Amino acid sequence: MGYPAVRLRRLRRTPWLRETLRETRIVPQRLFLPIFLDPALSREEPIAAMPGQFRYPLEQADAIVRRAEKARLGGLLLFGRPERKREDGAGAWDPRGVIPRFLRRHSGTTSLTLIADVCLCAYTRSGQCGLGKGGRVDNDTTLSALSRTAVAYASAGADWVAPSAMADGQVSALRAGLDGAGFKDTAILSYGLKSASALYEPFREAEDSAPEVGDRKGYQMDYANAREGLRELALDVEEGADALMVKPGLTQLDLLWRARERFSHPLAAYHVSGEYAQVKAAAEKGWVTEERLVPEILTAFFRAGADIVFTYHALEAVEKGWL
Ligand SMILES: [Zn+2]
Repeated sequence: MGYPAVRLRRLRRTPWLRETLRETRIVPQRLFLPIFLDPALSREEPIAAMPGQFRYPLEQADAIVRRAEKARLGGLLLFGRPERKREDGAGAWDPRGVIPRFLRRHSGTTSLTLIADVCLCAYTRSGQCGLGKGGRVDNDTTLSALSRTAVAYASAGADWVAPSAMADGQVSALRAGLDGAGFKDTAILSYGLKSASALYEPFREAEDSAPEVGDRKGYQMDYANAREGLRELALDVEEGADALMVKPGLTQLDLLWRARERFSHPLAAYHVSGEYAQVKAAAEKGWVTEERLVPEILTAFFRAGADIVFTYHALEAVEKGWL
C-alpha cells in the first residue's frame, strides 16, 4: 500500500511527535573529549587551527576535567608531549611525563573514563609513530616501545589505553605487556582502522607531531581500501582488542557501518581535528549554523553504528544544549 493511504508526514506532524519517534539520540556519556597536555606551558595556549581547543599545562587541565564531569561526558582521550623529543621516543613512557602525572592526579577521583593514546609521534624527533631512521619505521622494535608506554600509563591509572601507531601486532604486544605487569583490567581500544588522512593536519599543529620526512602511508591505511580496513579490525579482534575505532569518522561512515555489521565489539568513531576545523571555519564565516550542524554530524556517527564518539565538540555541544 502506498500514497494516498500511506502518508509518512502524519508521523512528523508536531515537534513532540518528531521527538518521540526519533530513532537516534545522543547521550553525553557516549561522547569523549580529546585533550592536549603540554608540560612546557605555564598557561593554556590556544590551538590556532582548532578554535576553542587548547594545549593545557597539567594544573590548568583540572578545570576541563571538572567541566567534562559536570557535562556527564563519557571521558577524556589524553594526548601528551614530552619536555624534549628524543630519537627513541622515551618521553612517551617516562613516569614523570605529563600523561602519567595527569593520570595519577585524576584517576580514582573522577567518574570519567580516562583513555591514554599510545603512540610515539609526539615523542620521537622524526615525528613518526614508531622507531626507525630516515622516515622508515621498524615495526617490531616499535612494538616493545608501545607496550612499555601502555604499561606506564596503566600503572599511572589509565582505564583504557588506545594504541594508534598502526603497528602490526600492537594490540597483542600491549595485551602481553599489560598482563605481564599485572594490569589485566586495563582495556585496549584499538585504532584498528586508521587511514592516512589530510584531515589530521590541525592535530599535528596541536601535538607538534608532523613527520620530519615523508609521510605515514607506510603504516596508516589507504583510505580507498574498505576490505583491507575490515581485515585490520579483524586482526585486532583476534589479538584481543576490547573495543575498536574507525578514524577519521565522517569520510569513513561506510566503514563504520560495515564494522557494526561484522563485529560485536564496542565501536568508536573519531571525529578528527580537520573535521572540527571545517565546522569552526565555516561557522566563523557565518556560512553554517554550528548549533544545527554539530548535532547532525554527531547523530550520523551514532546512526552509522558508533557506540562512542571522540569529538572536540563534546563539551561545547553539551554545555550549550545543542544535542
Ligand atoms: Zn602517531
